[in-house]
Amino acid sequence: MRTLLLYLSHRPWLRNWMQNSHAASRFTRRFIAGRTLDHALEACARLKSENIAATLDRLGENVTSLAEAEASRDAYLNALRGIAERQLGATVSVKLTQLGLDISEPHCRENVRMLAECAGQTGTRIEIDMESSEYVERTLGIVTSQHTATGNVRAVIQAYLHRSGEDVDMLCREKVPVRLCKGAYAEPHGVAIADKQGVDANYSRLIRKLMADGVHPAFATHDEKMIREAIAAARQRNLPPEAFEFQMLYGIRRDLQRELVREGFRLRIYVPFGDAWYPYFMRRLAERPANVWFLLKNLLKA
Ligand SMILES: Cc1cc2nc3c(=O)[nH]c(=O)nc-3n(C[C@H](O)[C@H](O)[C@H](O)COP(=O)(O)OP(=O)(O)OC[C@H]3O[C@@H](n4cnc5c(N)ncnc54)[C@H](O)[C@@H]3O)c2cc1C
Repeated sequence: MRTLLLYLSHRPWLRNWMQNSHAASRFTRRFIAGRTLDHALEACARLKSENIAATLDRLGENVTSLAEAEASRDAYLNALRGIAERQLGATVSVKLTQLGLDISEPHCRENVRMLAECAGQTGTRIEIDMESSEYVERTLGIVTSQHTATGNVRAVIQAYLHRSGEDVDMLCREKVPVRLCKGAYAEPHGVAIADKQGVDANYSRLIRKLMADGVHPAFATHDEKMIREAIAAARQRNLPPEAFEFQMLYGIRRDLQRELVREGFRLRIYVPFGDAWYPYFMRRLAERPANVWFLLKNLLKA
């Protein structure tokens, strides 16, 4: 089921059909804050009132022209201005293929530079999402050079990749803040750990490494076992709750989100918005096949 959903997430005809469907907002509402920046900023304001931070994701990936990449960059510049005007203290999360990485690396770097500069002026940072394994080397290259230039970027590491231990060592040496996630793409066996137990074991190992040597690490997971391990690792090192943060996706495990905030931990929610929701939505379904049955039940009811 997971492989099928990830395969379908890359079919352009299905994507176009789904994204243009009028009924779509009924079933995307749970995972996506809305179609417009205003919807997303409202969601961030609601979260802020509950003492929860946010990172805004304007949905979209793999643009096919420099004009589209510049449009994405401009949309993020607007998002950064909206965050500053409403004093939301949120970050933005960007995908480099959305900023033109497939077309021209120099243009993509320039778009990242403009976003990081604007984020610096408005007192926040940009988080660079990690996409499938073919982009990892180039993404880390751009993140580390932007970190040297402005210092306000966060890298993402996927625990399912065999290379991630070495990448975390490098990012700790360079003092680049890291978001640790498990990884959401369909990867070949040689590149990624295939079984959940193996991925979890690597995630645990990287928690300990980041708590020891990382700069304000972020643990992006809904897995309670991993969350409790991170808390235990912080306590073992006498790290206060402000030294790290948890991150979760909009609409997932809201019970656990509230529990962590009640316990005094820092939490940031990844808030996606925009029209290009299909690949993101399909990855969320693939993570938990029960979501597919939930969706089908609601479609039948409607
Ligand atoms: C803030 C944030 C940013 C991310 N950024 C990236 C990125 O840049 N690159 C990338 O490859 N991946 C990214 N991911 C996705 C991540 O890699 C995983 O695919 C996703 O978080 C599911 O893994 P998990 O750690 O929650 O653990 P899992 O072992 O998959 O799940 C643990 C439990 O969490 C709950 N859960 C998990 N997913 C869902 C879901 N979709 N619906 C309902 N319940 C669910 C279930 O209760 C499940 O039992 C990000 C995740 C988060 C939270």
